[in-house]
Amino acid sequence: MQRRDFLKQAAAALAAAGAGGCMFGRRKGGMPQATRGVVVSARDLSGAFDWPRLAREAGLTTIATHIGPRDVMPFMQSGRGTRFVDACARNGIQVEHELHAIDWLLPRATFATEPSFFRMNAKGERTPDSNCCPSNPFALEVIAGRAVEVARVCRPTTGRYFFWMTDNGAKCNCPKCTPLTGAEQAVIVENAIVRALRAEIDPNATLAHLAYQFTMDPPRFVKPDPALFLEFAPIERWRFKGVRRRDPLVKGGAWLEKLDRLLEVFPADTAQVLEYWLDASLFSGWRKPLVRIPWDAAKTRDEIAAYRARGIRHFTTFAVNVDDDYLADFGLASLDCVREYGQLLQAPDAR
Ligand SMILES: [Zn+2]
Repeated sequence: MQRRDFLKQAAAALAAAGAGGCMFGRRKGGMPQATRGVVVSARDLSGAFDWPRLAREAGLTTIATHIGPRDVMPFMQSGRGTRFVDACARNGIQVEHELHAIDWLLPRATFATEPSFFRMNAKGERTPDSNCCPSNPFALEVIAGRAVEVARVCRPTTGRYFFWMTDNGAKCNCPKCTPLTGAEQAVIVENAIVRALRAEIDPNATLAHLAYQFTMDPPRFVKPDPALFLEFAPIERWRFKGVRRRDPLVKGGAWLEKLDRLLEVFPADTAQVLEYWLDASLFSGWRKPLVRIPWDAAKTRDEIAAYRARGIRHFTTFAVNVDDDYLADFGLASLDCVREYGQLLQAPDAR
């Protein structure tokens, strides 16, 4: 079968699969009750693959775009972006944007004239390689102003914003920043951003504090603005052993201990887990060829239960690269894992 014909048939089959869906997760008192989400790239949303329909069929509440302002802003300003937003509205799906943002919020070219806006590495040199110097108020002003600019284009339907620090980034080691951990430095930046969002975009805006890589420890010496919520993304537990496999969350519990320490600082009822259960990009080593998602319903159920036992109500997972190519490579049955993920999150103990 020609690839184009296959895609056409697959799209038709998805359409024929019908309405189904579920009303759980609709807004109540202006706030979503709970989140059952996926995070996919703007590229994944740019072809024929009908994510809004699949999300509804799977009983999900939310699709978040990804990767950063550089690709998501042009997408949202395009006809494809408009069609995506309309399709989400028709299917009752909330739209969010989970963005690796700081390299765009503080343009790297600024380094030529304002090196003090940027982080100091361990050798004591300023560098634009990642993040910023959070002790520089002028840097924070630029970052917060540009976040408002992104928010005008990438407006979530939930009021929840996601402007993350650099992927695989590092903290600032300047004399003022040295006593602060990576997480504390991130909170300084996030506090500045959320205050600007509340002043200029939405008085009820909230912003994720992403616990991930160099920001996994709980911030102790910098107080998060009450408008920040925790987002817990334990990428390091997904290790490469032939394919990516998870370190146990439940047995041993090291990751749960990290989460528990974070929940001493951030409320559990607004906290979101960002997992990798459906992340075809991670399982493929972030390159082609794609591998099929090694979905494990039993382990995922146990992990959801462990998170829920801590009061977590908001769940999402990367599902990057689940798109036209994925469907062409692995067929319609390969999408059953998305439906099973939705079912696990709608299980009777769902809050
Ligand atoms: Zn600094």
